[in-house]
Amino acid sequence: MRVGIIGGGQLGRMLVHAGQDLGIECTTLDPAADSPAAKVGPSIVGAYDDPAALDRLAAVSDVVTYEFENVPVETAHSLADRLPVYPAATSLETGQDRLAEKTTFTEVGLAVPMFAAVEDLASLEAAVEAVGLPAVLKTRRLGYDGKGQAVIRRIELLEDAWRAIGEVPAICEAFVPFDREVSIIAVRSRDGDVRCWPLVENHHREGILRLSLAPASGAAALQAAAEERVRALMERLDHVGVLTIELFVAGESLLGNEMAPRVHNSGHWTIEGAQTSQFENHLRAVCGLPLGDTDARGHAAMLNVIGREPDPQAVLAFPWAHLHRYGKAPREGRKLGHITICGDDEGTVRERALQVSTLLPIPEPWPI
Ligand code: AMP
Repeated sequence: MRVGIIGGGQLGRMLVHAGQDLGIECTTLDPAADSPAAKVGPSIVGAYDDPAALDRLAAVSDVVTYEFENVPVETAHSLADRLPVYPAATSLETGQDRLAEKTTFTEVGLAVPMFAAVEDLASLEAAVEAVGLPAVLKTRRLGYDGKGQAVIRRIELLEDAWRAIGEVPAICEAFVPFDREVSIIAVRSRDGDVRCWPLVENHHREGILRLSLAPASGAAALQAAAEERVRALMERLDHVGVLTIELFVAGESLLGNEMAPRVHNSGHWTIEGAQTSQFENHLRAVCGLPLGDTDARGHAAMLNVIGREPDPQAVLAFPWAHLHRYGKAPREGRKLGHITICGDDEGTVRERALQVSTLLPIPEPWPI
């Protein structure tokens, strides 16, 4: 089986690695010749909407998938005329537009923060009146890692927020005083089999994921509800492959924040910490192979390496630390790698994560 992957970032790189074990030949497409995935497997250099590059990808693939959600929808359509593309364009379209995303969440029974569509200043005023203050204004498209967002705390700052996000179509949401953030990662096979990994607890700093803990502590009661919703969403989209929903936990309830129709940063721990990794199961799903078990092997923590890499000597001096480096040049705010820690119990994993964190430039306060 040959899989074409649109995008050659670290997610593509880890998909390539998983494919190598299964004898699945992956080829990535990325505009950069030195992308993280190009360093570990065959790659095509080209824009995501370059017809010649897409022809070349199709020629070496039996099925095409993608590792990020901002692939042009026309690209997915044009490839789907020639060969299977999983997940299908519907998942892409939904994941690219915060309004479509939130609307679909409510349609499958997943509660969301109160929200309203914003087109201009007048509709922003009406939206703030409807959802109350504080509110969060987010561009409908192309937001990631907290970019394209502004929190509105006072009505006088409404215009500033509108300008800050670039005066583009947006949604305005109620600011949720959540207890914590979690994600549910699930995979659906071509014949509709669904598996879910345990809920993951996520900690962000400056809009970027810093730490994931899995399974999320004390989340057994939330697991069934999250699984039911992600299953309904994947069935609704006829999704094939991995899909992630980021959720807020407020008291006993779950609120949907956003979805990614792909493998996700909060699932990197599954490489060492679960029976089957998200990368392997994504490839199994898109290739029409049976899915692997998604149970955790114990407890795990994943720390992102952002901006600057620690000395590998120091990280690996901890015999229980697994270091993953993406082959990227250092740059502020850039995800350069991650470190996974496994252990038999949550206390041990937290203690180890705390030790490793001393090697990383993480803005205070450290969450554990
Ligand atoms: P997003 O790009 O939507 O994932 O937002 C980035 C981060 O901003 C989230 O992980 C939350 O920490 C925070 N955030 C987003 N939306 C809200 C909201 N409605 N209420 C409170 N915090 C939010």
